[in-house]
Amino acid sequence: MAGRISEALRRPAAQQPPWPDPEQVRSVSAFLASLPPLVTPDEIRGLRARMARVARGEAFLLQGGDCAETFAGATPAHIGANAVTLLRMAAVLAEGSGLPVVPVGRLAGQYAKPRSDGVDGLGLPVYRGDIVNSAAPDPEARVPDPVRMTEAYRTARDTLALLRTGRFSGIHTSHEALLLDYERPLLAVDPGDGRLYGGSAHFLWIGERTRQLDGAHVAFAELLANPVGVKLGPDITPALAAEYAERLDPRAEPGRLTLISRMGSARVRDVLPAVVERVAATGRQVVWSCDPMHGNTRTSSLGYKTRHVDDIADELEGFFEVHRALGTHPGGVHLEFTGDRVTECLGGPGEVTEHELGGRYESTCDPRLNVEQALEIARLTAELCRR
Ligand code: PEP
Ligand code: MN
Repeated sequence: MAGRISEALRRPAAQQPPWPDPEQVRSVSAFLASLPPLVTPDEIRGLRARMARVARGEAFLLQGGDCAETFAGATPAHIGANAVTLLRMAAVLAEGSGLPVVPVGRLAGQYAKPRSDGVDGLGLPVYRGDIVNSAAPDPEARVPDPVRMTEAYRTARDTLALLRTGRFSGIHTSHEALLLDYERPLLAVDPGDGRLYGGSAHFLWIGERTRQLDGAHVAFAELLANPVGVKLGPDITPALAAEYAERLDPRAEPGRLTLISRMGSARVRDVLPAVVERVAATGRQVVWSCDPMHGNTRTSSLGYKTRHVDDIADELEGFFEVHRALGTHPGGVHLEFTGDRVTECLGGPGEVTEHELGGRYESTCDPRLNVEQALEIARLTAELCRR
């Protein structure tokens, strides 16, 4: 197994930090490998069973949370607010759709961010998430520091401890499996079934910027027994989507693979149909989920990265239209939201305007829906499920 892991990780890996001291990375990774995995194979298999129901059209996936979790934000107040919001949205969805809902948080590990540019607006090395460097606008703070991976582990462990209590215990966790120096040491073979489990979260996905077919991230995901996802942007081809299905779901297990379309409201109706048809023709039952956030990002007149609730709603409607026309199951949504009172996305019931964005813009990365916007999207999704 170790040989297969090394082989996968020898492939080119996009979006890895320029660590200044590779020897220190090796010693941190070795330390992480000595710690217990954060999630158990039993929990992961529990999610696998629920994802299989989603793939068969018997349930609906609700995945979401912060774009980028921070270490400072890992307070009971913030984690609790996000988890409560996730569960409120799940209740709205379950009630309105008549389907059981599978809540999966972007929680307890969403600390690494892919970036389009190596340099930010101030000319500083870009912030890559708390697991790599600090968002503080200072060149020193932006130097990638591998010791942050141990802080990520501790923060995730404490977050999971909170989520395993009482009313949050039905929530599974997920993040983008981006930082391979963190993901690799947390791998573990379960002696029970002999399979390899990613120990950092129940569900791991590959982002739009790291899904190269010959790259390390796809090869890494191939090795896992966890349910895995791939984000599909507007330039996805039907043939490439089918390749992901064959590579990442070789045993044709319903719910093993989630394909998360994030095409933008202007493209989803054109691009998605042929992709869905081609994947269905492979005979696999994947989960089709819609991320209506990442294809609809724009810059406000005052320079804030934002998204409009109307565009988010429109992409969701397009996603459901495509699946209804093809007779496939629109199985889930993937959203960025928070339970905190922020003004990061435009529109919604409170009609957040461009001038209000600066009021409470707290995200260190992408703009999130606030509670009322998130509940509005949950209500719309429930209505689309019923149609
Ligand atoms: C994200 O989910 O925060 C993200 C970066 O998405 P994508 O890979 O789809 O751009
Ligand atoms: Mn994001």
